[in-house]
Amino acid sequence: MFGINVEYKKQEGASYPIFNKNIKGKKVLAVCDVNTEKFFLPLLEEIKPIVDSIKFLKFDDEELVPDETAYGRMEQEVKGCDWILVAGSGTLNDLGKYVGAKCGVKNSTLATAPSMDGFISTVAAIMTGGKKVTLPAQSPSDILVDPEILAKAPAHMIGAGVGDILGKYNSVLDWRLANLKNGEPINEESIALTLKAVDDVLINMDKILEYNPQGMVYLMDALITSGYAMVIAGNSRPASGGEHHTSHYLEMDFVKKGLPVPLHGIKVGLGTLVCISIYRWLKDNDVKFTNSDKVYELVDKLPKEEEIISHLKRLNTPVTYTEIGVDKALLEEMLLNAYTVRERYTVLSLCKELDIMKDVVPMLVEKYL
Ligand SMILES: [Zn+2]
Repeated sequence: MFGINVEYKKQEGASYPIFNKNIKGKKVLAVCDVNTEKFFLPLLEEIKPIVDSIKFLKFDDEELVPDETAYGRMEQEVKGCDWILVAGSGTLNDLGKYVGAKCGVKNSTLATAPSMDGFISTVAAIMTGGKKVTLPAQSPSDILVDPEILAKAPAHMIGAGVGDILGKYNSVLDWRLANLKNGEPINEESIALTLKAVDDVLINMDKILEYNPQGMVYLMDALITSGYAMVIAGNSRPASGGEHHTSHYLEMDFVKKGLPVPLHGIKVGLGTLVCISIYRWLKDNDVKFTNSDKVYELVDKLPKEEEIISHLKRLNTPVTYTEIGVDKALLEEMLLNAYTVRERYTVLSLCKELDIMKDVVPMLVEKYL
């Protein structure tokens, strides 16, 4: 789809036949870190006879940061190569997409964790001058998926992927809210595609909770499909609403304080709980606004917070802000200000408009601090 080869590992013959054709005769820069090396080596062994050459670059960091040092080193190493192949998920995928675009070479990713929805996006989260910024990048030409590898990812990384995916229930509702209340244009095809993928994850949650490789396929499919839905919509509306704004708000705070940033999907999972609880509170308190009745019909179809909490807990993934180092003051600040992160109408904007966030805050603090 969209010129990207998303290839699942074949059980017989070549693992990734289409990728093998793409990478044939190339001079490859192969990049991994200490965590992903063991999954990478068998693939490199397999493509060795096909490619022209492989230059191996391993980052020794336990928690690689996508900053000047990391991408600077890749830019140096990629000279004389015409392909970047990375083994990783968030950070290494971003580095591959960013350096590939900057240096005019293609990049591919062996996915090692189903932890976030940015695999195919054309932007990369990069640290520059101590700040996290979103920079133009390119989609990988191939994403290689081995469900057995994904099933071995740390539980909280799978939990982060689940959090990012369940967040789509809220981002889609935020889009509907903006459409029903303010007449913002909506793209039904993009919404249908997103919800189908997300429903598949929820229906097959047992398999994911058992680290069953087939469960990982549903999760990975949803993470990639969500990326396609954004391409169809022409923006990130179907995949990012208030739950992402709360996550970005905290991320900026963590970065500003020089603290390690919790995984994107972990923060999004918490933001999803917050936003869904706000929607339910609005409905229970019969808060009226244009087309509120229609919005509340959709609120009834949201998954229950208790259900999301139970799934995340089983995946060792935080379900309170205290667990990720956010105190009461910062949580309240986030709830009151996250709507400012970007100009996009969400349930957070609605609360601001109606001046009721202060009334909702005690309930949210009680449930999620
Ligand atoms: Zn996300």
